[in-house]
Amino acid sequence: MLCLGIESTAHTFGASVVEDDERIITNVNSTYRPPAGMGIHPRKASEHHAGIADSIMEKAILSPDGGQLDPDVIAYSAGPGLGPCLRIGATVARAISSFLKKPLVPVHHGVAHLDIAMSLGQVHDPLAVLVSGGHTSILVHMGKRWRVYGETQDITLGNILDMFAREAKLPAPGGLSIENLAKKGSRLLRLPYTVKGNDVAYSGLLTAAISQLNHRAAVEDVCFSLQEIAFSMLSEAVERSLVQTRRKEVLLAGGVAANTHLKEMIRSVAEDHGASFYSIPLQYSGDCGAQIAFSGSLAFAHDMKVSNENSHVIPRWRMDEVDVPWIPRD
Ligand code: AMP
Ligand code: MG
Repeated sequence: MLCLGIESTAHTFGASVVEDDERIITNVNSTYRPPAGMGIHPRKASEHHAGIADSIMEKAILSPDGGQLDPDVIAYSAGPGLGPCLRIGATVARAISSFLKKPLVPVHHGVAHLDIAMSLGQVHDPLAVLVSGGHTSILVHMGKRWRVYGETQDITLGNILDMFAREAKLPAPGGLSIENLAKKGSRLLRLPYTVKGNDVAYSGLLTAAISQLNHRAAVEDVCFSLQEIAFSMLSEAVERSLVQTRRKEVLLAGGVAANTHLKEMIRSVAEDHGASFYSIPLQYSGDCGAQIAFSGSLAFAHDMKVSNENSHVIPRWRMDEVDVPWIPRD
């Protein structure tokens, strides 16, 4: 069974064809990059998506042997995300679904980050740590749904990195720029560390890091300190959650999972408690069509299709509002 997945929640428009939830045949993505110092402007990102959709779709259905792939199912990211961006992906998906007369499957973008990571890593029933622009959540699966065991109380880990990078005039993606500069820093600056039970709160840390920058601390040291504090806070919350839930696997997914230092910190928490650790490979860590195609395959196998008229987008959609009956995985 071939599933065509379309991603368009925020900065990336992507499409991918996968076979079941096992083999990625194509995965073509284009990311809108705002000018340095600026955040994502929803309308401009959606214009990028509308402009690029044609050529992305064309490449995504091109079989590696030169023929054309014939998807059995069309999946699209229905939310959460930026309304104007979501609507471009949903419109393209509806058009293809009605033209090819193939079923349409809405996918939750956060669930999809975990589905692709679980499929590639053959993970069964983990403590999942989802860190991206849209999410900072510690999750366990219980009774058909992901349950949020810990989360950010204010901004996400991706947000604090991107917002600090914008203040420091670093190029996007902010997290990558900060990771590179942090390697050259060594002085641990005094910055607030806020963990509340299994939750973290990052906005005070952001304000203090920007203040350090404005008081002429070396940007390398601020990046180093920002990473150390932000990642240690998350590691503490993950460790507490792991002890409480007694899961035997820890899964790290989402765009910030690209960060080598974060990976090592979460790996060390997992191993200290006898749990195995798996992180999404770098090329699938950020938003991409393949995550939607994997999740769409699984959702279709559980008959979670919708009619064209009911194919809404949901800009605000929590992970724990979605049925995910395919977990634990075999
Ligand atoms: P996503 O929303 O899943 O596409 O993830 C995007 C987020 O990942 C953005 O906040 C980026 O700054 C962040 N990101 C990308 N590469 C890295 C990296 N090497 N280290 C930390 N964060 C990163
Ligand atoms: Mg994402």
